[in-house]
Amino acid sequence: MSLSLIKSRIAKAEAAAGRAPGSVQLIAVSKVQPNERVQAVLDEGHRLFGENKVQEAAGKWPDFRAQYAGVNVHLIGPLQTNKARQAMQLFEAIHSVDRPKLAHTLARLAQELGHCPDLFIQVNTGEEPQKAGILPTEADAFIAECRALDLPIRGLMCIPPVDEESSLHFALLRKIAARNDLTQLSMGMSDDFEKAIAQGATHVRVGSAIFGARDYA
Ligand SMILES: *Cc1c(COP(=O)(O)O)cnc(C)c1O
Repeated sequence: MSLSLIKSRIAKAEAAAGRAPGSVQLIAVSKVQPNERVQAVLDEGHRLFGENKVQEAAGKWPDFRAQYAGVNVHLIGPLQTNKARQAMQLFEAIHSVDRPKLAHTLARLAQELGHCPDLFIQVNTGEEPQKAGILPTEADAFIAECRALDLPIRGLMCIPPVDEESSLHFALLRKIAARNDLTQLSMGMSDDFEKAIAQGATHVRVGSAIFGARDYA
């Protein structure tokens, strides 16, 4: 597949859902991909990327930023508190705010650094024990807690269980966001981004459909 094909599928899905053209942002998930593939997508003019590890992002994005203007990188993977400072300096947005301890650390660092990336709260919509994210029943209270800390919470993020209909999880995320007056929804990956757009996604995170399969070997 390719970047232009994914963009046209996004445009079609926006239209089918009666949404404005350009209302969905494409986060090209570049984790594990060889630099040549990332460079090719940068050369096509794309500037918004997603990474799931702080260390990996720190190893490649400073160089790309030096070569290309306007690069925007979002952290979409779990964040340990001891890497929070580095993450706040590396990313324009963090999609994985998922627990009070991390929220308090980010708030303290935001004071100290004088800036904070845009933040998304990750919700564990499938209530999977092995998965990060605040539980749906605890989401309202956690959002309020983050707001009381003056954190720039822009929206919610979820990763649905692999074996369940993702639309149900996207709809749940949308409902939690709506009742908390949050407008941004980070949901949908290579296999289900059109369903996510139908349910109101504002940010889709697409990796393998753009870059090809990840080679973890
Ligand atoms: C890797 C990853 C993606 C992209 O997955 P694809 O199936 O390759 O599109 C999206 N979101 C998160 C949180 C990821 O870790």
